[in-house]
Amino acid sequence: MPLKTQALLEALEAELGPGAVLTGEAVSQRAQGIWRPAPLEALAIVRPKDTREVSFVLRACHEAGQSVIPQGGLTGLVHGADTGPEDLILSLERMNAIEEIDQAGRTVRVQAGVPLQTLQEAVAEQGLSFPLDLGARGSCFLGGNLSTNAGGNRVLRYGMARENTLGVEAVLADGTVIDSLYGMVKNNAGFDLKQLFIGSEGTLGIITRAVLRLREAPGSRLSMLLALPDFPSVTGLLRHLDRGLGGQLSAFEVMWPEFYEAVATAPRSPAPPLPLGSPFYVLAEMLGSDPARDEAWVEAVLAEALEAGLVSDAVLASTGARNEALWALRDSVDVLAAGKPTQVFDVSLPIGAMGAYVEAVKAGVAAVDPEARVFTFGHLGDGNLHFVITPRPRSSEAVKAIEAAVYDPLKALRGSVSAEHGIGLEKKPWLGHSRSPAEVKLMQTLREALDPRGILNPGKVC
Ligand SMILES: Cc1cc2nc3c(=O)[nH]c(=O)nc-3n(C[C@H](O)[C@H](O)[C@H](O)COP(=O)(O)OP(=O)(O)OC[C@H]3O[C@@H](n4cnc5c(N)ncnc54)[C@H](O)[C@@H]3O)c2cc1C
Repeated sequence: MPLKTQALLEALEAELGPGAVLTGEAVSQRAQGIWRPAPLEALAIVRPKDTREVSFVLRACHEAGQSVIPQGGLTGLVHGADTGPEDLILSLERMNAIEEIDQAGRTVRVQAGVPLQTLQEAVAEQGLSFPLDLGARGSCFLGGNLSTNAGGNRVLRYGMARENTLGVEAVLADGTVIDSLYGMVKNNAGFDLKQLFIGSEGTLGIITRAVLRLREAPGSRLSMLLALPDFPSVTGLLRHLDRGLGGQLSAFEVMWPEFYEAVATAPRSPAPPLPLGSPFYVLAEMLGSDPARDEAWVEAVLAEALEAGLVSDAVLASTGARNEALWALRDSVDVLAAGKPTQVFDVSLPIGAMGAYVEAVKAGVAAVDPEARVFTFGHLGDGNLHFVITPRPRSSEAVKAIEAAVYDPLKALRGSVSAEHGIGLEKKPWLGHSRSPAEVKLMQTLREALDPRGILNPGKVC
């Protein structure tokens, strides 16, 4: 290790204390991610305890020209937190305090290393709810959620991470602390600086703390698994439920039949809750306030949908365990891989164009590999589709050809190559499909202005 680097690590250890700087086996015995068991590679993992220490680390790395990769729960799906042997990992894992829940203002101030599920459970004990929710809730950190502007299951009603964040504290590459930790919904005093850090995947600064917006905890939760005859019924049902449930529709997830069959049968599920063979399945959710009244309400709205032919079969869940069982189907994405490598996609496009787009993608993938299986599902209410395509081809040309089959048709639709997962390294070659040269140049200009030595997450995003 060069003397300069050795001196940097010693200076960090001296300032942050014993156990804060991990090297050697303490790094390599960790995995690259929750689905990536290969050993982590890095110069060191540095684990500050507070914002002052983050600022110290960045100032020192800025002076030394040392690359810094922020890491949260490592559940990201676009290789945004990947490292090489020369990189220094800045892990937020020890900044995991829920600092204050403000009951009157319905806000919470958290440190960036709090796992999403920990926060959800803590605020639920006080009759409140943090509505951001995703399958990785047990492992992802709020700092990671904000820096990827995570979406998830309830965007339809509550918005993405951005819409649920009132204030952010971030540290710039040179160690400057930007305290934008405000707790108001309305704040037009100049630029909304927190938005620089939300969704920029650790390239413009390290998010250290945030003030998040809370809602009243729902008094009832009803999940509906529905079978549908065709794609026009899917879009028709979305409007029918949204109108019929008076704004209380909180999720609208669609599953194409190959996806439903894989998650609703053995080994994942003993028996499908609805018979196989329908062209589409929807998992929808209403969050309300009165269990008895809301169940009758949902039943009436569903009866109309059945009568109108939008829905051919339905299962309704109103208890905790039955709700969880239906949502476990949607969260069973891991079962699709069946032990084989996969390619995972996350795109957005106008809802009305989705039926034809999915058929175009399937045809494009079949032209590359007739044996490939395409599992399609997504947060349709938000215009967001996911594909899991398996097996992942061995040759990099074929991997690229499958990516082209998914991304090329989006150009004409003005869709996005990333709905909610971000760009990271994986989608960087495709950024130009969804952003103009002038937009990419502006992103690079912002990076250069905030991080002139290019130490933050180099090579990622743009
Ligand atoms: C089973 C499963 C389901 C998922 N479902 C969804 C879903 O429905 N919706 C969705 O949006 N995503 C989903 N994801 C993707 C992932 O969970 C999110 O992107 C999540 O927000 C990443 O958080 P993390 O803490 O794991 O971040 P990491 O993976 O550690 O990092 C992600 C990116 O953020 C940067 N970063 C991390 N912490 C900070 C920080 N404090 N400051 C600045 N930059 C930082 C990293 O450098 C990296 O670029 C899913 C993933 C899995 C495995």
